[in-house]
Amino acid sequence: MVVAYTIADLIKKGLEALEEGEYNNPLLDSQLLLCNVLNVDKIYTYTHKDQVVDSHFVDKFLNLIDKRKSGYPIQYILKNQEFMGLDFFVKEGVLIPRPDTEVLVEYIIDIVNKGYFNNKDTIKIVDIGTGSGAITLSLAHYLENVHIYSIDVSDIALQVATENSKKLGLESKVTFLNGDLFEPLEKLKLQNSIDIIVSNPPYIPTNDIAGLQKEVAEYEPKLALDGGDDGLDFYRRIVKDSGKYLSDNGVLAMEIGYNQGAAVRKMLEEDKGNVPLSCVEIIKDLAGHDRVVVGFFKAIENGDCKLLP
Ligand code: SAM
Ligand code: GLN
Repeated sequence: MVVAYTIADLIKKGLEALEEGEYNNPLLDSQLLLCNVLNVDKIYTYTHKDQVVDSHFVDKFLNLIDKRKSGYPIQYILKNQEFMGLDFFVKEGVLIPRPDTEVLVEYIIDIVNKGYFNNKDTIKIVDIGTGSGAITLSLAHYLENVHIYSIDVSDIALQVATENSKKLGLESKVTFLNGDLFEPLEKLKLQNSIDIIVSNPPYIPTNDIAGLQKEVAEYEPKLALDGGDDGLDFYRRIVKDSGKYLSDNGVLAMEIGYNQGAAVRKMLEEDKGNVPLSCVEIIKDLAGHDRVVVGFFKAIENGDCKLLP
């Protein structure tokens, strides 16, 4: 006999299966996966609890529950992650944007809105490591007079970010570039002209990656995570070259791992070969961990760091 499942039965079945694993939101995941299969919103599952679900949708749903149970990120199944109030398309091969990164984006929006660059018609921003376009496109969405050069070595990342730029109607404010860190800027002759360099580079020490949550370690791209032996490779390279591209008064702002604040601060303050970055600041995330490091490319007199109006 074929068992007839209702919407309520299936949500319960999915919940019970996922509860066996260590997932943060087994109920929500079960609801969202069923919505995805039936192509309905969450409200529909409440208002049509007793609706019997067609057997091929049942099979599809149970397959997705199995996939999720194996640790596969729900965002890659739903092809979506919210970031800064915007919907980003994501798929395997691109990092799922993290709420921690909003601290970095909010800091930049704040200094621009406080008028730090008021003398500029168009603020030029470089984002190193585009990924889904989370940082690039939220800055382009929330800030008016900006142009963003957004660089990645991953073709998949650039494809996904380009798609997101179209979806969000931001194509004219962004130039996507394929290349290694600052290399694509060389040809565009953008030396000494960038107002803000922003980056959430890969920063996990190579040997720590296997020990991360299964969802991250097994399914997210290593290229987006691996920061070399001590996790700091990208900071060394970005800090070393930032002076060549920053305009006078330019800002370098990067996301860091919770235990990397002191090491990265030192790099900015000692930046050999360039004028050291001044007024280096570390900003904490909502959990109270060091999350963002910022430095200003500006000659400071008497150690006075009250740069913002
Ligand atoms: N900005 C996105 C975000 O915050 O969600 C993605 C950040 S992810 C941690 C780092 C990104 O850097 C990945 O998309 C990866 O492909 C890219 N990347 C790795 N090595 C790179 C390199 N040498 N030059 C440019 N981008 C690189
Ligand atoms: N925040 C990510 C994680 O811990 C790491 C992202 C990165 O290396 N920039 O999974």
